[in-house]
Amino acid sequence: EISLDGVCKVFGKRGRQVTVLQDITFDVHQNEFVSLLGPRGSGKSTLLRIMADLLQPSSGQILMEKEHPREVRLRRKFGIVLQQPSLFEWRTVQENVELPLEVLGQNRSDYRHTVDQLLETVGLTKFKDYYPWQLSVGMQQRVAIARALTLDPPILFMDEPFSALDVFTKDKLQVELLAIKTKTKKTIVFVSHSVSEAVFLSDRIIVLTAHPGRIHSIHCVDLGEERTAQIRESEPFQT
Ligand code: ATP
Ligand code: MG
Repeated sequence: EISLDGVCKVFGKRGRQVTVLQDITFDVHQNEFVSLLGPRGSGKSTLLRIMADLLQPSSGQILMEKEHPREVRLRRKFGIVLQQPSLFEWRTVQENVELPLEVLGQNRSDYRHTVDQLLETVGLTKFKDYYPWQLSVGMQQRVAIARALTLDPPILFMDEPFSALDVFTKDKLQVELLAIKTKTKKTIVFVSHSVSEAVFLSDRIIVLTAHPGRIHSIHCVDLGEERTAQIRESEPFQT
């Protein structure tokens, strides 16, 4: 479980301060798929980065299984996919995906199968020996997705991971992600600005309003086969 309590984020110096997130409080339960949905500039990436311990909140706190996110990150219990793919330019596609295992000092032959399977999942088997600069942004993003899954972490943070992909690849990976979530009981926090994508993927959607980062929550009710959403807007946390 991930719990946020009164998280605020202020950017800028005295006199020129902007409050991007204001008093954000919610929980993400284990094995839950939560989407952070909102227009451009509403603070989705900022919130995700704070949750993933890449950015410090100005106030408020976050706990993961009652621990500071830093502890959890150091144990490599979560994978992160950022909005802009950040790969190691001097490593091939395969070497980028292998990196987390290599860092843990695992034997190459032990993880070959895992890496092959991940490359297959994101459809990059034929490109495994390419370097990032030889790939489109969408393909680089697929490498970043595979790399986030390498250690099979129980928690995944994904910032608009499919936005640069063509529709066919996007559809395939959305379905794949749901299968992975169900199979391996992952907790997923997913940033999107597409209502249909969030409704298709999520168990719950947190909506961020444009400014100054007040959030409202809406509940996404799963009605069987088709994820028909019955959206009920709850009381805003902050008015
Ligand atoms: P998008 O949909 O475009 O990705 P977003 O919802 O992810 O937008 P953020 O990137 O979190 O939004 O940005 C929210 C606000 O915070 C924006 O107004 C942005 O300019 C501001 N902001 C983000 N990072 C910083 C920073 N390091 N310094 C100052 N302002 C920042
Ligand atoms: Mg963003």
